[in-house]
Amino acid sequence: MTGSLTGLELFHKKFDLPLAQVIHTEAPYHFRRPDAGMTEEQFRAAIQKVLARHDILLIADEVVTGFGRLGSMFGSDHYGMTPDIVTCAKGLTSAYAPLSGSIIGQRVWDVLTQGTDENGVLGHGWTYSAHPIGAAAGIANLELIDKLGLVENAGKVGAYLNARMKDALGDHPHVGEIRGEGMLCAVELVRDPEARGFFEASEGVGAKVVAAMLRRGVIARAMPQGDILGFAPPLCLTSTEADTIVGVTAEAVHEVFG
Ligand SMILES: *Cc1c(COP(=O)(O)O)cnc(C)c1O
Repeated sequence: MTGSLTGLELFHKKFDLPLAQVIHTEAPYHFRRPDAGMTEEQFRAAIQKVLARHDILLIADEVVTGFGRLGSMFGSDHYGMTPDIVTCAKGLTSAYAPLSGSIIGQRVWDVLTQGTDENGVLGHGWTYSAHPIGAAAGIANLELIDKLGLVENAGKVGAYLNARMKDALGDHPHVGEIRGEGMLCAVELVRDPEARGFFEASEGVGAKVVAAMLRRGVIARAMPQGDILGFAPPLCLTSTEADTIVGVTAEAVHEVFG
């Protein structure tokens, strides 16, 4: 069921997924689907009302956005959403030790407690669930996030990173879109921004830029969905380090396109 819920095709193909009771809708990804009929803001404002009308639960995947990355403790707070289930992992321990979790709302909790009377306790434990090492790392990490003001820093330096990236590359003839929020940033490279003409995957344009960045000492990620450079720097990033990221990205883009 969880494999069905993801939108990643790769996870469906070899496992006869998604299951028939799971229906996928499109994400409001306006750069690739400009004919979506509404803006991202309109989609965001309306989607939860539509779900409520049809009694559909909302699961927020906050594995990357949870614990400060957008400059708010959770992405759901950031966008004023009230999900029924929140998944979290990465930022919970800053990956110093493995730990993940699901936070469930009262409505889902009530179903589980009622079901327990009928069916016994839900078997949701694993051999290594709630392992003390992961839990201790999580507590230590969350204390540091508060003490060092990292949520605020992610919002502040993240906004600076995104703004500087737009200054440096927004007008480049092969940069289609620069998008991001808080300490997340993506630069999408295209053959022709006006016509939304993309490069052939075989050209490996994104991978070439990432390789040119690595030679200059900055690790970026060529995202698998296209020629998209993905940035998710540590929440303690300084504005000087943001300048380095932007400078190296611009140099690498200029090197690859000449
Ligand atoms: C990293 C990531 C995942 C995968 O999390 P796992 O703990 O490896 O399963 C899922 N969703 C998002 C948004 C992620 O960034």
